[in-house]
Amino acid sequence: MKIIMLGAPGAGKGTQAKKIAEKYSIPHISTGDIFRANIKNGTELGQKAKTYMDQGLLVPDELVVDLVVDRVNQDDCVNGYVLDGFPRTIPQAEALDKALKELGQKIDYAINVEVPDENIVNRMSGRRACVDCGATYHIAYAPTSKEGICDKCGGGLILRDDDKPETVLKRLGVYHEQTQPLIDYYTEAGILKEVDGTIDINDVFAEIVKILGE
Ligand code: ADP
Ligand code: AMP
Repeated sequence: MKIIMLGAPGAGKGTQAKKIAEKYSIPHISTGDIFRANIKNGTELGQKAKTYMDQGLLVPDELVVDLVVDRVNQDDCVNGYVLDGFPRTIPQAEALDKALKELGQKIDYAINVEVPDENIVNRMSGRRACVDCGATYHIAYAPTSKEGICDKCGGGLILRDDDKPETVLKRLGVYHEQTQPLIDYYTEAGILKEVDGTIDINDVFAEIVKILGE
């Protein structure tokens, strides 16, 4: 099962992608997580990506596409994967389709998690990420059992630099301009599925399971 998660920044793509990955035993591939790991490890890719991410801009397509194509060709992806945060532009979607076509493969579902803009700033200003394992929480909607401490690994929690309100507004603008056209792209491909992302996390997941099957 090959799945793409679509939606505005903060819509809940990562939250749902992790649950999908666990239930269907497929890898969760988040380009944002890959860039953040590269930044943390001080790689050249990380340094390049950071200059764009800090401004709320997309990292250029040429830095993203090969990375994802290499990743989906790894052995653990034979039974599928859930892509979170990729593709984010039409050229990225076209490059992915082309690479998969050469392998005789295709994406099965593009799941659009719909959340109106007015909810997004609130979502992202309350998001907290673990500095060690990258797990994501929300101070109101998905809190940790001990404040400021990751439930999974005991690491410290931070507000991502790009989740500050001024950067969030920039990212929303970039989303509408460059990423939203993918909704039409995957509708035309006949694989778009919509879910309401404003309801409780577990209820969103139940909607997704209805689409993907038990
Ligand atoms: P994305 O991956 O789309 O950027 P996340 O999955 O990181 O978004 O979710 C953004 C924030 O909103 C996180 O703090 C997460 O815990 C919270 N969140 C996700 N889904 C919901 C939901 N259905 N209701 C309330 N909060 C949610
Ligand atoms: P995310 O964790 O998905 O919210 O991504 C954080 C940031 O990483 C984005 O705001 C972009 O700057 C960058 N990024 C992640 N995925 C992509 C992508 N597919 N194309 C371009 N930039 C990306």
